[in-house]
Amino acid sequence: MSLCKGQSSQQLRFRGERVLWLQPASLDQLLELKTQYPNAKMVVGNTEVGIEMKFKNLLYPVILAPGYIPELNTIQHTDEGIVFGASCSLTLLGDVLKAAVGKLPPYQTEVFNAVLEQLRWFAGLQIRNVAAIGGNIMTASPISDLNPVFMASGCKLTLMSKGGERVVVMDEKFFPGYRKTILTPEEVLLCVLIPYTKKGQYFAAYKQSPRREDDISIVTSGMSVTFAEGSTIVKHLALSYGGMAATTVMAKNTASRLLGKQWGEELLQDACSSLAEEMTLHPSAPGGMVTYRRTLTLSLFYKFYLTVQQKLVSEGAYIEGVRADYISATEIYHQTSPSSVQIFQAVPDGQKEEDVVGRPMMHLSALKQATGEAVYCDDIPLYENELYLCLITSTKAHATIQSIDTAEAESMPGVVTCVFAKDVPGSNMTGPIVYDETVLADATVTCVGHIIGAVVADTQAHAQRAAKAVRITYQELQPVIITIQDAITHQSFFQPVRTIQRGDLDQGFTQADHILEGEMHMGGQEHFYLETNVTVAVPKGEDGEMELFVSTQSATKTQSLVAKALGVPASRVVIRVKRMGGGFGGKESRSTTLSTMVAVAAQKLKRPVRCMLDRDEDMLVTGGRHPFYGRYKVGFMKSGKVVALEVTYYSNAGNSMDLSLSIMERALFHMENSYSIATIRGRGYVCKTHLPSNTAFRGFGGPQGMLIAESWMSDVALSLGLPAEQVRRLNMYIQGERTPYSQILDHITLDRCWDQCLEISSFTQRRAGIETYNRDHRWTKRGLSVVPTKFGISFTAAFLNQAGALAHIYTDGSVLLTHGGTEMGQGLNTKMVQVASRTLGIPSSKIHITETSTNTVPNTSPTAASASSDLNGAAVHNACEILLHRLEPYKTKNPKGCWEDWVTAAYFDRVNLSANGFYKTPDLGYDFETNTGRPFNYFSYGVACSEVEIDCLTGSHKNIHTSIVIDVGNSLNPALDIGQVEGGFMQGVGLYTLEELKYSPEGYLFTRGPGMYKIPAFGDIPTDLTVSLLRDAPNDKAIFSSKAIGEPPLFLAASVFFAIKDAIIAARKESGLSGPFRLDSPATPERIRNACEDRFTKLCPPAEPGTFTPWAVVV
Ligand SMILES: Cc1cc2nc3c(=O)[nH]c(=O)nc-3n(C[C@H](O)[C@H](O)[C@H](O)COP(=O)(O)OP(=O)(O)OC[C@H]3O[C@@H](n4cnc5c(N)ncnc54)[C@H](O)[C@@H]3O)c2cc1C
Repeated sequence: MSLCKGQSSQQLRFRGERVLWLQPASLDQLLELKTQYPNAKMVVGNTEVGIEMKFKNLLYPVILAPGYIPELNTIQHTDEGIVFGASCSLTLLGDVLKAAVGKLPPYQTEVFNAVLEQLRWFAGLQIRNVAAIGGNIMTASPISDLNPVFMASGCKLTLMSKGGERVVVMDEKFFPGYRKTILTPEEVLLCVLIPYTKKGQYFAAYKQSPRREDDISIVTSGMSVTFAEGSTIVKHLALSYGGMAATTVMAKNTASRLLGKQWGEELLQDACSSLAEEMTLHPSAPGGMVTYRRTLTLSLFYKFYLTVQQKLVSEGAYIEGVRADYISATEIYHQTSPSSVQIFQAVPDGQKEEDVVGRPMMHLSALKQATGEAVYCDDIPLYENELYLCLITSTKAHATIQSIDTAEAESMPGVVTCVFAKDVPGSNMTGPIVYDETVLADATVTCVGHIIGAVVADTQAHAQRAAKAVRITYQELQPVIITIQDAITHQSFFQPVRTIQRGDLDQGFTQADHILEGEMHMGGQEHFYLETNVTVAVPKGEDGEMELFVSTQSATKTQSLVAKALGVPASRVVIRVKRMGGGFGGKESRSTTLSTMVAVAAQKLKRPVRCMLDRDEDMLVTGGRHPFYGRYKVGFMKSGKVVALEVTYYSNAGNSMDLSLSIMERALFHMENSYSIATIRGRGYVCKTHLPSNTAFRGFGGPQGMLIAESWMSDVALSLGLPAEQVRRLNMYIQGERTPYSQILDHITLDRCWDQCLEISSFTQRRAGIETYNRDHRWTKRGLSVVPTKFGISFTAAFLNQAGALAHIYTDGSVLLTHGGTEMGQGLNTKMVQVASRTLGIPSSKIHITETSTNTVPNTSPTAASASSDLNGAAVHNACEILLHRLEPYKTKNPKGCWEDWVTAAYFDRVNLSANGFYKTPDLGYDFETNTGRPFNYFSYGVACSEVEIDCLTGSHKNIHTSIVIDVGNSLNPALDIGQVEGGFMQGVGLYTLEELKYSPEGYLFTRGPGMYKIPAFGDIPTDLTVSLLRDAPNDKAIFSSKAIGEPPLFLAASVFFAIKDAIIAARKESGLSGPFRLDSPATPERIRNACEDRFTKLCPPAEPGTFTPWAVVV
């Protein structure tokens, strides 16, 4: 009611360009307005309507906002239960129920507790603070989390119109169809009665979602049972499910079949076979995961069954107790408070105070970024006359464009022009290495999301609205190749097919005691940088000059592709990059599609043009990490020693080559991960498909190549029945061995990382603890895994291993530094300041970096391949040494003087106080034809050990522990390096356990935002996390003995994947299953549950592949 205080009784009325917003002050006014505008949309929290208007393109011309009407905010305690006004927020609902649970006898509050349990996992606090109880009911979503509880508990709803009120019980009739309720257009929902439970009644609710926190349900349910007095005979049963049909449904047949039965094993069997029959789904059902969803209906009932059994026993009922190891099925998840340890080596005694190298210096922009003062591209103030651009993209995966009709769009408010291929003044062909893409599609589109054109208007809203009004007709073409399997069928590959081979494979396999074959698919990943792609292009008005502010990792590539499209020399185009809000490889090449397009529009109109993509647009057009499919044949000895390996990789490159060949090459360079294998052949096929072009992503093929390596390693151990860690250790490289591409491994630290990781993680005790745990728990299992990584550092294209820097000393002694790398949050600028500070011998506070720009340091390599600190650090060092050399005479002349004195003296002596630095990595280059040369400057090593717990019935897992030991040489900055380890590791956890891109068989991306695409949340961070930087491991191949850090830690998250697999192995053992089995990545709850085969999964067998069209395909 507090919200209503002070509200005037006056109705408020706002009229916008397209919408009339009415805020009635009283219930009468609301009902009057609902009569006047029966089709008006009610809006309280706007968490549903807002989404519909933004993403489903729905328009509600009249909106009624009843948020402040007292009757809709009232809370009343009655004899039957608690009545909540429909506008009460979910936070308020939770608070009131919590208070009631504290006061009332437990038997009365079973439903309240169930609502509270659902609210615990309902969205996030921000949403719960505004979202209303009525909004959840009236949205009528089939995956609402509260409706199954309300339905199973028989909540009463009061509906009101000007003509009067009626009270209805919320049952299956309340939702007559998808997103429909029985309310008439003139009616509103006034309030909801949530009933008390009675003696002998038990209630529970369950929610299963891809991610535990802040996610929508896959299956959700409310379950209620009432027993005949003093017995365990079922008198009333209500089972309600969300996620199993177009509406929330009740399992009525099952409920009536169980009436009069005793709560026991026979009832359980009946319930399960009946639910399996009743809760069916068509194999093509929207949302997919059909087998999993069906199994969940049984699994959740089983949890309810055991929970009730436990309560009955505790209340003295005369039935069999729950087996001790089965209690694990009833435990409710609670997060334990997290802890973390970070271990690094202090700088040596005697290092000067002002020498910041090796110290955990804070990221120079950290405070600005935390307060919001840091300036990103879209924070640049608007230029006068500036316009906004919105992309027009293809809705077909493979088609010719037959017609484009812009008449309606061009007549819309604010629209200035449309831009298409004919408007590209230079070349319409583009691409980072080969020009096999169009800036704007001319005749053919080759993926959903292919950029066809753009609308330019005065504002973003006008541009976006008009873009939706452009009508395009297509002639669809065949074949439509979406998945890797489609590409294999159609032999659709980019050339060349790469091979790395060492030794005679036939001979290798002949030597082996055993040979096994297997396969694995690994899904792609969306970069999900916080800042989406953005460009501001400003034509300078003469000589074809243009300045672009771009969020990109590749200033030079952006410059050359813009110049190519505009038909001007590169010297006329300046690219400026202050910082990015994350890149992760996604802004290495794909950012150029937007920047080139915006430049073309700016050139056409001779006006500044801006575009920052919305998240859904960004996810649609830019592509991500390559999905991989690997087939392997591995020969090994009884001891577990692998002697021969043949592996074939297929990557889904999408519709253009982009960087896919280099990514495949890196996958092949990492096909043996950290293991020495005498005879080996890896072959890589880059599949050409009708998806948006996939691209660089932290690890660049390494995480795919190595995961498949660990899969055959795990299969070897499983088939021999040996501990996986023993087999891994046995095969690990030792000093002086050669990789399959003939590079000698010197200064190898794998063994040290491994031993320390086992020690820090207390591996042996942990393993023993897990064995005991697994003996005592049937329905939750723990797993443990330790996984090494060896990551090659350098661009494998040798020419990219160069960098430049430019340093100016001003007469006040301040230093302006520029280098070829870009700052994307990783702390590169901070490290460069540290390098310059040590080299010049001045405090870091005297050194400043403003931006990266093509007119200060030209011909830069992308900030990628983890090599930017190595390359740019050496270039900065070089520039600073040149300056230092020039200042040397003045230091000698005035040894007691300070920096400013020497600078002033040099200036008056007419010394150049500006210097270029340059660096190229020596002795690099590899030839695939001859399998000779050195692709990498050195290797980064690391080892991680992870422990997880899975819920065998739902497939959820929790990350209990991770220890990481990683070799970063002499860390330039341990704070930044540990940040990179933790961040990279968590991004890997997302990759291997959570993140799933879902495409329709026609190539349409369903997962276009945080609602459907889940990156790790706080709760996914291992509860107990230790990161240790290996001590005393200087690296003589990089600046100040440091090592690269950006990419290597990501793969260490594979330890979580294989810990999950280890836990699944324990679960399968309970069902008598042993030996290798296929687990694809990511290890989602669906995959985990399906792999934990048991009596429930047997009742829900998957449909025969090929007999139906799935909702989503594995690409
Ligand atoms: C990030 C995010 C996370 C979410 N997570 C979850 C989740 O975990 N579980 C879940 O179930 N849902 C979730 N939702 C969906 C949504 O938040 C809930 O359904 C919420 O309860 C809607 O309430 P609201 O007040 O915001 O509704 P609004 O958007 O304001 O309205 C929703 C609908 O209810 C109608 N309506 C509202 N009040 C009345 C009334 N008194 N009489 C008649 N009709 C009325 C409106 O006309 C509209 O059709 C999530 C949404 C978002 C954006």
